[in-house]
Amino acid sequence: MSEPTTEHRLTKALVVGAGTMGAGIAEVLAKAGLEVRLFDVEEAAAAAGLERVSRSLAVAVEKGKLGAEAMRAALARITPTSAQTDAAAVDVVIEAVPEDMGLKKRVFEGLGRHTKAILATNTSSLSVTEIAAAADAPERVVGLHFFNPVAVMPLVEIVRAEQTAPEVIERCRALVEALGKTPIVVLDSPGFASSRLGLVIGLEAMRMLESGVASAADIDQAMKLGYRHPMGPLELTDLVGLDVRLAIAEHLAKEIGPQFQPPPILRRLVRAGKLGKKSGEGFYRWVDGKAVAK
Ligand code: NAD
Repeated sequence: MSEPTTEHRLTKALVVGAGTMGAGIAEVLAKAGLEVRLFDVEEAAAAAGLERVSRSLAVAVEKGKLGAEAMRAALARITPTSAQTDAAAVDVVIEAVPEDMGLKKRVFEGLGRHTKAILATNTSSLSVTEIAAAADAPERVVGLHFFNPVAVMPLVEIVRAEQTAPEVIERCRALVEALGKTPIVVLDSPGFASSRLGLVIGLEAMRMLESGVASAADIDQAMKLGYRHPMGPLELTDLVGLDVRLAIAEHLAKEIGPQFQPPPILRRLVRAGKLGKKSGEGFYRWVDGKAVAK
């Protein structure tokens, strides 16, 4: 990895939303030495977020990737809270509330008024430019798109909105590198770089399955063995959730074009409640956490 060119100088963070992603983001920030306030509207969710971080760090210790002392220090840097919290005392805010434009705008309204913090959203598909338009300091709004599970995945997309100041991009790049991850900078556009390309392969795999080109397992093998993908596109869809991929496909079909039109097989499976790993069946059946061909 190249040396960071700009020092990030960010020492205090506020993470808004303590679910799957918020907890993961708090974990990697704390591991890198930042003091983190982990805020959630639900008191139980804030506490559960810290619990999730604790479990994830314990796994890292078990695997010998982290020392026990480093784990204790990282945990001590995270303060879960559900009390009203403002961004005045922090250098960076990272929002990870559910993927709902109205909700995200409400979080960003007023944010930035009493702070000089970078205001980041972890949205995976919404317009960062539209979110920025709701903030008081739109030039400080940026997308920081982490991947799940955050502790493991090495990529972060830095999404540049129309309003984002170049200095904010550079500071984010330095922060991401300090987290031990690799940033790519993407113009705010539907699906950014990752979801847009990943979904094309996923949807085409579904169309191939639908027209009998090969079985789900064989289509996945083609990409694993022929193209060195760590996981086939249909198994990946099961992991992400068929409902989640359907929603993204509908959004991209509207924003980009008909190549993202969801194939009937995807709609049919979602209607049947076959959502992938989380429901026990999708393109595979899931037994003891493992995909079994149908
Ligand atoms: P989640 O449902 O696990 O967590 C969301 C949390 O936000 C919940 O704990 C909820 O109580 C809290 N919340 C709701 N309203 C709030 C508010 N006004 N203020 C503070 N907290 C609030 O969701 P998630 O999977 O962590 O996703 C969060 C964001 O990350 C979404 O934008 C999603 O698109 C994006 N994302 C998700 C993934 C993924 O694989 N899950 C990957 C990349 C990006």
